[in-house]
Amino acid sequence: MSHLMTWPARKRLSLESVHVTPNGTLQVACWGVGAGLEFHATDDADWSFDIQAGTYNDANKQNYVLGTKLTDTQCKITDVPCDDKVVAVKKFQFKEPGQYRIVLKMGAAIWDWMRVYVMQKAPDSIADKKVTTGTINVDFVWAVKENVGINYLPHTLQVTELLLAKYGMKFNAQYTKNTPTRYLPGFEDGIICRYDDYGNLQKVHDQAKAKGFFSGKALTVVMGNAREVPAAADDTKRLAGCTVSKYENKFVVLNVNAVSVDGATLLHEIGHAAGFCSHESAGSHFMSYGTMRNEVTKGNITDFEKAFFRSTP
Ligand SMILES: [Zn+2]
Repeated sequence: MSHLMTWPARKRLSLESVHVTPNGTLQVACWGVGAGLEFHATDDADWSFDIQAGTYNDANKQNYVLGTKLTDTQCKITDVPCDDKVVAVKKFQFKEPGQYRIVLKMGAAIWDWMRVYVMQKAPDSIADKKVTTGTINVDFVWAVKENVGINYLPHTLQVTELLLAKYGMKFNAQYTKNTPTRYLPGFEDGIICRYDDYGNLQKVHDQAKAKGFFSGKALTVVMGNAREVPAAADDTKRLAGCTVSKYENKFVVLNVNAVSVDGATLLHEIGHAAGFCSHESAGSHFMSYGTMRNEVTKGNITDFEKAFFRSTP
């Protein structure tokens, strides 16, 4: 799969954040060039700013996710000669201080991206980084049958793996769909993610426990028709996932009907299961509701190290 990397060192840059001083230059290469694949430099807008200002509406969401392409005066992009036929190299020069992205686009789709901080000093989100070891283990269970919902799981799994790899951790996901050993019956009509009488999370927990789906060594993720309201007709489809920590075994529910635009929803819920309760305000942080999340702080990594679903080699 095509991806961004440093040049000439060829270190993968997918989902990375890098720092460069204003007017400084940055060489970025793409491995796996092909017809239609384009490099873009875009802004790094975050809808939370507009929510605070009261100007945000859902119809504009796509603008934030894709980013607005910078002009030549904002970012000068030049070709760098390269003999490798599967590699294209560009030099980026960002003029004004700020937060930006370098994006690999195929038509309207983002194939890969990275964040660029253009400022005098590297921000805390880059400086506050810890690289560790170990494996984060996740077991998927299916509360839906075949051909239901949106199949965003491959993207989500890849994003989770890449984000953990940035911090030295491996990702072990058991996710084969619809083998009888991974099917949780009784919830085709919906998992109502509420703790009150309208919800059925206790039933999901008890049924999963009865089926032996809590190993104690991996985090169980239930893929289901999840919502927050009892009646399916009233569902906004906005619930991406939830972490259930009220019962004997912690588990995560992911909604098969909601899109995880940046693919970071799974790691976000794994974070809740590791004990992070709060939502960060910085939109780049994986525990925020941000547009394109790619950063995990040192403190979060320390908590991942204590999680019951982490194993050490
Ligand atoms: Zn959350």
